[in-house]
Amino acid sequence: MLRILAAIERVATQQPQRTAYQTHNASLTYGELWHLSDCVADYMMKLNLRRQQPIVVYGHMSPLQIVAFLGAVKAGHPYVPVDSSTPTERLQLILEASKAGLLCTTEPLYMLTNIPVMAVSDMLESSSSETPPSTAWVQNEEIHYIIYTSGSTGQPKGVQITANNLAHFVTWMQEHFPLQKDGVFLNQAPYSFDLSVMDLYPALVGGHTLYAITQQEIANPKALFDSLATSNTRVWTSTPSFAKMCLMNKEWNQELMPALDTFLFCGEVLPLAVSNELMQRFPQATIFNLYGPTETTVAVSYVEVTKELVERFEQLPIAPITDPSVSLVEDGEIVISGPTVSAGYLGAPELTAKAFPTVAGNRIYQTGDMGYEQDGYLFFSGRKDFQVKLHGYRLEIEEIEKQISNLPPVSSCVVIPVYKEKEIISLSAYLVLREPLKDSAFKTTKQLKGLLSEYLPAYMIPKTFKYMDALPLNPNGKVDRKGLAVMETV
Ligand code: AMP
Repeated sequence: MLRILAAIERVATQQPQRTAYQTHNASLTYGELWHLSDCVADYMMKLNLRRQQPIVVYGHMSPLQIVAFLGAVKAGHPYVPVDSSTPTERLQLILEASKAGLLCTTEPLYMLTNIPVMAVSDMLESSSSETPPSTAWVQNEEIHYIIYTSGSTGQPKGVQITANNLAHFVTWMQEHFPLQKDGVFLNQAPYSFDLSVMDLYPALVGGHTLYAITQQEIANPKALFDSLATSNTRVWTSTPSFAKMCLMNKEWNQELMPALDTFLFCGEVLPLAVSNELMQRFPQATIFNLYGPTETTVAVSYVEVTKELVERFEQLPIAPITDPSVSLVEDGEIVISGPTVSAGYLGAPELTAKAFPTVAGNRIYQTGDMGYEQDGYLFFSGRKDFQVKLHGYRLEIEEIEKQISNLPPVSSCVVIPVYKEKEIISLSAYLVLREPLKDSAFKTTKQLKGLLSEYLPAYMIPKTFKYMDALPLNPNGKVDRKGLAVMETV
């Protein structure tokens, strides 16, 4: 079976000058990646942490992030990527829940914690650079990375992915998509989202260049399209939301990105309109709609988006029904089996047992996604619970409600997704305060959003706050979410 680190080592040895990683202002060769991650591994091994003790890596797209990830796994530790847009309270929760032995940073961070904190750049100075023996590396069933995702209990959940899970995923990617040909892979998703794994490892294992775009560029259209134009991207991986945003610029087309021949989308519904527009603007490119949750290592199924498919259906399928890894159970829930099913949630055996039952000797993951079959394909039809996707981000409505309800001035709260043409465009919070509004609603909202931003990343904070004397109830005495949702339909 594929060994991820061994494959990267081969590239580093045979073609050390090849560019492994690039941003608009920094780059790293395979030789440097291998050598610097040796230094990081050496530093980590000298700390004598418990075998497999998680290491949190905090920062944003930069060469040293990748160096820290590989350094951790060479030293036998799973890494936990935390993007620098994460508020410190949430980072603190992740540090505690993961029982991390070290917090590595590639960006300035001001917080008090009793866990050792070290800048990755400082690790490079103080260490020798011999590659740890491959027996020290993360092994087959050991954990390679842990990604924290929104949790309905109010605490983020740490999804543990083993070296074998990852190897199977990368092998599957290589077998089904045109990834072998030389070229640049775009890295749009921050490393705390598992979509980034879809470009990171296939690129590095194949000896390709990963071109990462930063949040700062994404927030500045001119910088973004300049970057995309010079990136020479051949393989594009992003959420459909990101592509939709790019489509707003009329000049985003094959002329701007002549090398682009493969689109890989995952993480949310790929709208037909987006597919149609992409087909027109990028006539040389093939579009793939991939499906899967973080809990089964990025993606497990796909369909190629052809003209025929787009004309035939009202929405795109996510798999042919012959796909062995996805199936429907009686109530219509999609369940996933196979070698990429995660080892479960870190430190949460009950949650794990519930979501990952063993059925007829096979460990499966119950996705919470609902589906139906039609004409030989499997379609996604929504969620069983209160998990939603907003602009590509996975959110548990209940986690947001718990954090808002924990704010001292708030007595209770519900959060309602706002739909426009079947797509969630924002969130609205309905709040009951402990004391009547003293200031204007505008001022109170500003103050509450400020408090909330200490606990939740910006994308989880509802856009509008509405104040009520009491939350409306349905005849069963539960909060009338449906009634509120009707009011929110645009
Ligand atoms: P994440 O763990 O962030 O990758 O989110 C996984 C969830 O995103 C899945 O359980 C689905 O609800 C949704 N999802 C992923 N891919 C697709 C797709 N191609 N079409 C529709 N929903 C998707």
